[in-house]
Amino acid sequence: MTSHLLPTYARADLAFERGEGAWLMSTAGERYLDFACGVAVNVLGHAHPKLVAALTEQGQKVWHVSNLFRIPEAERLAARLCENSFADTVFFANSGAEAMECAIKMARKFHAVSGNPDRYRIITFEGAFHGRTLATLAAGGQKKYLEGFGPVAEGFDQLPFGDIKLVKKAIGENTAAILIEPVQGEGGVRVVPPQFLKALRQLCDEHGLLLVLDEVQTGIGRTGELFGYQRSGVAPDIMALAKALGGGFPIGACLATADAAKGMTAGTHGSTFGGNPLAMAVGNAVLDVVLDEGFLPHVQKTAILFKQRLAELKDRHPGVIAEVRGEGLLIGLRAVVPNGDLVSEFRAEKLLTVAAGDNVVRLLPPLIAGESEVTEAIGMIDRACTRIAAAQKPVNLGAAR
Ligand SMILES: *Cc1c(COP(=O)(O)O)cnc(C)c1O
Repeated sequence: MTSHLLPTYARADLAFERGEGAWLMSTAGERYLDFACGVAVNVLGHAHPKLVAALTEQGQKVWHVSNLFRIPEAERLAARLCENSFADTVFFANSGAEAMECAIKMARKFHAVSGNPDRYRIITFEGAFHGRTLATLAAGGQKKYLEGFGPVAEGFDQLPFGDIKLVKKAIGENTAAILIEPVQGEGGVRVVPPQFLKALRQLCDEHGLLLVLDEVQTGIGRTGELFGYQRSGVAPDIMALAKALGGGFPIGACLATADAAKGMTAGTHGSTFGGNPLAMAVGNAVLDVVLDEGFLPHVQKTAILFKQRLAELKDRHPGVIAEVRGEGLLIGLRAVVPNGDLVSEFRAEKLLTVAAGDNVVRLLPPLIAGESEVTEAIGMIDRACTRIAAAQKPVNLGAAR
């Protein structure tokens, strides 16, 4: 069958008709364990009763009114995000890239209204991913994504990952901010050491720069804390959220301190759909669950169990898995074999995962997963690795002789 969808994705030939918790049912009637979670989106799994109720209840009241009017659901969600973070103020958008666009504009505007319009450059890091708009692509700096799309948006200085001396050297009179993900997700689940984040915070304070965190993938419980920055003990000035915040409903959010946001006055930014009542009702319902007292400790416990069991598998299959890494339930398996092969073999076991940079396979269970889902996944991963290892053996023996 020919498809009329723009062919920008290399899709697996697999579709789903419904889901429940950590499980998805394919149109062919097969059950899959979903550790892809729509790329770190479905934190509460599929068809969570509280999210379904929030969406259907709001759906019968009002869907959309635009930001020409007050939106009480948005005011409530913003207040709750601020109560539970460093932030004083929130702009709602519809995606991660849009949340990042707001963050970038805000950082530049801060300096402009402080009398330094030439301070617009932002330091970023290799392996970063900040979205697919023209500015966020420039921030991410990946050649393969920028090629053929005309002039690259100006104002980003990309540095190697994790070298504080190079950051010091790169700060100049035009530098406005430093932008980083607490854990690089698309880049291959590369965890930023807390000391590095602390050192960045210190540099920002010394030089009057804003620290901007892209927590689009790490935010809302994925790392075992509500936000990834919380394990480092330092707070940003601006932070982008999206993926998990809507639990599957498209939402983006840019959080900031009042000072960092001081330039963003009426008319400086906007979005037609951003913060609409449907999205906000679902976002509030996600927070109802994630902020519940026992929720994050449960995520931390599941993460420890999963990582222990994965470390055992790595020891048993050294020809397949090179390393287990990550933070909370943002887990990466660095593969010995091509990561795409591993994703395919996992899918053959009915386990859904996501490939990432650095030859990594991302395991992104819904945060509601527990011991039984971990046990199922470990069995599937073990079988897939055993099959790959068995296929490798003759080659290895031949090489040894
Ligand atoms: C997914 C992602 C984005 C982009 O989000 P979209 O909703 O696809 O625009 C930006 N930053 C990070 C860290 C992400 O993981």
